[in-house]
Amino acid sequence: MFIENYREVSQRIAAAARRAGSSPEKVTLVAVSKGRSVAEVKGAIDAGIADLGENRLQEAQLKYNAILSTQYSIRPKWHLVGHLQTNKAKDAVRIFDLIHSVDSLRLAEEIDKQAARIGKVQDILIEVKTSPEESKYGIAPQELPKLLPGVCALQHLRVKGLMTIAPLVDDPEKARPYFKMLKGLFDTANTQLTIDQRLSTLSMGMTDDFEAAIEEGATMVRLGRALFEG
Ligand SMILES: *Cc1c(COP(=O)(O)O)cnc(C)c1O
Repeated sequence: MFIENYREVSQRIAAAARRAGSSPEKVTLVAVSKGRSVAEVKGAIDAGIADLGENRLQEAQLKYNAILSTQYSIRPKWHLVGHLQTNKAKDAVRIFDLIHSVDSLRLAEEIDKQAARIGKVQDILIEVKTSPEESKYGIAPQELPKLLPGVCALQHLRVKGLMTIAPLVDDPEKARPYFKMLKGLFDTANTQLTIDQRLSTLSMGMTDDFEAAIEEGATMVRLGRALFEG
């Protein structure tokens, strides 16, 4: 089942990328494995998945350790797509390649501090709350220009881009304005950052709306149900 889903999803990603005038390899697929078993995660890796997303630290740690002990020749990349509490930053920097959910200077500073302790430069995204009523976390769009310089100045962090969670809607077209908004913020930020600070990653799009997200410029989509169900 996973393999068939993966094949179909890959084709849909490729088609959406071409519609956007981009190319399929410019869109990274993160398989969101929250709630799935270690066996399912292994099945995904065996099928060729290179990026795994989790939304809770503890669950991610269990799977990370299980996969580590399996000694795959290719190490998957681990993404934290859910909220991170400041007091868990220490554990998060140990396992995650990309933290999608940074939404305050305080959290960024703590990640920076913990990354420095283990000699790591932690890649992060800033989560933006594009729809005020729906998502609990993320910064307000107008806060981004204030937050970015402070976060970019941290030595053990690398801000790769922005992330948003669009509201749950019955029609993906209704999610499109939120993707457009994030792309606008991304483009504006890039006119204000230095060349070496430029943002490259736009993490937006889930099972119900990923094609619209790619058409609006997503470079990373986070898919759970489309891959693991149906
Ligand atoms: C669960 C989750 C996803 C995947 O959701 P699906 O609708 O199953 O594709 C993506 N991003 C975040 C932040 C999530 O929590």
